[in-house]
Amino acid sequence: MKIEPQHVVSLTYDLYVKQEDGTEGLAESATQEQPLTFLFGAGQMIPKFEENLSTLSTGDTYDFVISAQEGYGEFDEEAVANLPLEMFKGTNTPQIGEVLPLQDNNGNRFQGQVVSVTEDSVIVDLNHPMAGQELHFKGEILNVRPATPEELTHGHAHGPDGSHAH
Ligand SMILES: [Zn+2]
Repeated sequence: MKIEPQHVVSLTYDLYVKQEDGTEGLAESATQEQPLTFLFGAGQMIPKFEENLSTLSTGDTYDFVISAQEGYGEFDEEAVANLPLEMFKGTNTPQIGEVLPLQDNNGNRFQGQVVSVTEDSVIVDLNHPMAGQELHFKGEILNVRPATPEELTHGHAHGPDGSHAH
């Protein structure tokens, strides 16, 4: 079956990014046993990732590169936030390198990695961990099926066979 909006796609992928020595290293993957399953065209994936898959069908393999700009964005030196240490009262003081789940005033969830901790504040880097990276994807389309009415209502896939309702 061909990949189209309102269809659920299951695929394998290996994501390679450039390492400090210039060679590509495997950053993430999804296997045949634990594929990535998602509702195509629902805005859950990088738009360019879906665009590259849009001509494929079950059984096809793929191999493409997405620029940093069309992936997780360029690295932004100014994307740091200074959080008052008081926010963490009653919990453990964040450690450098720790990734914190955060939420803005509009309820949008995002993550920040702690880059330093001072006497009264915690400074977090808000760049996506893969910001500034060219993304090299390789994989295979394992299955494409029409989404169930429930999946379309929820706006996400309910697992490879649509039975994992929630
Ligand atoms: Zn659901």
